[in-house]
Amino acid sequence: MVLPAKIFKKWVILLLFICQGNFLFFSFAGASTLYGSGKRKINPSLNLHPDSVQNSFEFINTNFENASPLNYMVDSTGVVQISLVYDHERSSTNQANSHFHFQVQAKPGSTQTLILQNFDNVWNGRWATPLSEKTNCYVSVDGINWKTIPTEVISNNRLKVKLPMEAKEMYVASVEPYRISDLEKLLAEIKNKPLVQISTIGKTVEGRPLEIIRLGNPTAPYRIFLRARAHGFEAGGNWVVQGLIRSLLKGDQNAARYLKKYCLYIMPMANKDAVARGRSRFNGLGMDLNRKWDKPADAFYSPENYALENWFKTMIKQGKRPHLAIDLHNDNYGNIHISRPAGNLEKYLANMKILEAQLRRHTWFTEGSTGSNFKNPGTLGEGLLERFGIEALVYEFNYDWIASLKKQPFGKDWEALGEKLGEVFYQYFNEANY
Ligand SMILES: [Zn+2]
Repeated sequence: MVLPAKIFKKWVILLLFICQGNFLFFSFAGASTLYGSGKRKINPSLNLHPDSVQNSFEFINTNFENASPLNYMVDSTGVVQISLVYDHERSSTNQANSHFHFQVQAKPGSTQTLILQNFDNVWNGRWATPLSEKTNCYVSVDGINWKTIPTEVISNNRLKVKLPMEAKEMYVASVEPYRISDLEKLLAEIKNKPLVQISTIGKTVEGRPLEIIRLGNPTAPYRIFLRARAHGFEAGGNWVVQGLIRSLLKGDQNAARYLKKYCLYIMPMANKDAVARGRSRFNGLGMDLNRKWDKPADAFYSPENYALENWFKTMIKQGKRPHLAIDLHNDNYGNIHISRPAGNLEKYLANMKILEAQLRRHTWFTEGSTGSNFKNPGTLGEGLLERFGIEALVYEFNYDWIASLKKQPFGKDWEALGEKLGEVFYQYFNEANY
């Protein structure tokens, strides 16, 4: 059927009218959603004046491996105000933020003033801050070569830094990062060595593989277990382990002597999900992997600990119980933590004294050990001793300062300590009582 031209014209006009009406209606509704109806209050600190944004600042990039979650805004004086995001523990008041890692993009040659906030941590139910006059800010153009710039702790527990833009893009971090990709490079480097066997013992919450590196001869008289990176931001343990592994694979006389005495088992990165996502402490489901070792691990909430616990059970069943276990961490004290659960600890404490003396003798360690009343229930150190009969401790590398070297720690310093651990363990087993 063909409509007469006159009727067709009328229909088109009517249709246009309806469409336009709808369009106007939707435009009006859209405008009120976007810009507020006039009644809604806008956060007064929100900077809506593009003219006030410092011309030289462009962007903070967090779209890369191990970058920390954050919000930022440029205030009316051109200062970049950065709100870091806390990492929360499940069923707990504990919250942690010790990690920052992001990339500032701005005009080369300019200086960007950054103010970082949200450092009010809750640790074991108590307020704690990672900030002090020794707090470091590591910066790098390429993410590989790092140096530090001065920091200032200002009011309300905030950290201020003045970042000189040596290039258009500058990385900024709280410690020298060690990423999953760094571990993967190490694993690729060592996996075909005859002294090395790498096995996957389980997966993280997000499905990342959890490796154990066996280094040495499994029939050697002594066995040592090391775990690194149970807490996401604590990169120190990874650098230590890397230094140790490379030194033992040199093939020199010392390495041969050490590996006649002991075999090493290393879990190099326990909390890979936190490392990937740039979080400070807890696993993907808000569990602390250095807590609750006083009872069996939950397979769903703590698959990382569950896998490790099963590995210990298997080792013990096979008659290969580790003689010594060290959990590698970072804090701003640098002590070794000797926990004292109930029971006869005489032999254990005597052995720990020997270990401390050997660390002092062969490495830059001078910080010391926890006092005679120290207990930290649920830590791997205490749990292994109580539940598995494994002499264990937590070593907290100071991430602010190395007292004996009088300097801020870099990856190279931690690797250097790791390179000396071969001798420390050798002498330890010469003297310790087993
Ligand atoms: Zn830790």
